[in-house]
Amino acid sequence: MANGLNEVPLTNAHSPTFTLEEGPITEVHAFWLAGLSCDGCSIATLGARNPSVEQLMTAAIPGIPKVILHHPVLDTEAGHRFMEPYHQAVRGELGAPYVVLYEGSVADEQIAEEYGGYWCAMGLEEMADGSRRPYTTAKMLKDLAPGAAAVLAVGTCATWGGVPAAVGNVTHAMGTMDFLGKDYLSALGLPVINIPGCAPIGDNITETITAVLMFLAGVAPLLELDELGRPAWMFGGTVHQSCTRAGYYEEGLFADEYGQKECLVELGCWGPVVQCNMTKRGALGHNGGCMNTGGICIGCTMPGFPDAFAPFYKAPPGNFISGTASRMVGSFIRPLRRISQQRSNMTNRWNKTGHIPSGWGHVQAPGIFMKGFHYFYKKIQTWGSGFHPDGTAQQRKLQASAHRFIKEGGKRSDERMYAEAEAGR
Ligand code: SF4
Ligand code: SF4
Repeated sequence: MANGLNEVPLTNAHSPTFTLEEGPITEVHAFWLAGLSCDGCSIATLGARNPSVEQLMTAAIPGIPKVILHHPVLDTEAGHRFMEPYHQAVRGELGAPYVVLYEGSVADEQIAEEYGGYWCAMGLEEMADGSRRPYTTAKMLKDLAPGAAAVLAVGTCATWGGVPAAVGNVTHAMGTMDFLGKDYLSALGLPVINIPGCAPIGDNITETITAVLMFLAGVAPLLELDELGRPAWMFGGTVHQSCTRAGYYEEGLFADEYGQKECLVELGCWGPVVQCNMTKRGALGHNGGCMNTGGICIGCTMPGFPDAFAPFYKAPPGNFISGTASRMVGSFIRPLRRISQQRSNMTNRWNKTGHIPSGWGHVQAPGIFMKGFHYFYKKIQTWGSGFHPDGTAQQRKLQASAHRFIKEGGKRSDERMYAEAEAGR
């Protein structure tokens, strides 16, 4: 087979290899594996805040099992003591449920083996003849996947192949889903859960893990995933739909160099077609994120990345039609909005007096043409509603009655005052 390791197809018939003690699940092991990776996904995970890795590892969230993280870089154990839980899980002797988190793409180890080497390995694997060889993370993934409660592919390399699988892919790198095959189901009957991004938003990773843990603990239904196994609430919309610059796009205003505030589509932004929640969530703690910090979207969450979006920094061809349409509509809409905006920037008093007493600068009061425009605009605005700019007929009647009452009250008060003054003489 293409991956050289999956020669015995996984089936849906395998059963959980972990045993559960009676009662609610209180601990879940998380085995982190790295394939062809830059470790960026690990860094993104560490930066997550909602929830944070620390919260997951200390069971700080009520109802969620404690995560016992086994990570090649972060673990406090090393050597045999670090590797033993991985081996126990492979042998089905862990005695607790576990999930697998795979970072980086899965290389075809057969290619490396032909040359007596390997691409990505961790620890040693004991062979049938008693010899030992580097335990490739691809093989470990294959060994751990059937007994895992869930396999989560973290980052675009792990989900779709990413940069290592781009044109010229000498390692035959592929995503976890490709490697495990269409028929793969975890011990709980789940296909691979995909969290794409290069690197993904840290909160996307920990939030998905939390949703899986909640499902495992029986406190929530299975998270909603789309047809590619992505959390649907994260990847259902496009970057453009939530972009802070989308209003500029709509008004046909485009940046022609970096550092400008307008829409970046003409600098090569693919946001209108890319499924990613960066513009909703920000990069870290709801701050930053590609367009917010002045960068274009290069489609790093998408299965076609990077080749489908190359060359970067060149406007997508589709922009010729949509951008031209936005420019045409925008050139008509913008002046109308500015007129309406001017009206909203006036108080009733300034409208009546025609005088705007700002000490900051001269503000032009609306002229006769603008006043006429504003009058008709207001008419249309209130048309068909019970609302009247000067109050409803009933409000005006009540107001007049109140004025009369106050006036008469004042008159009576004056009369009393004169009478008292007269009596005091
Ligand atoms: S910068 Fe990109 S995502 Fe934002 S409005 Fe422009 S095209 Fe859309
Ligand atoms: S906005 Fe685009 S470039 Fe930025 S993370 Fe999302 S998909 Fe990647």
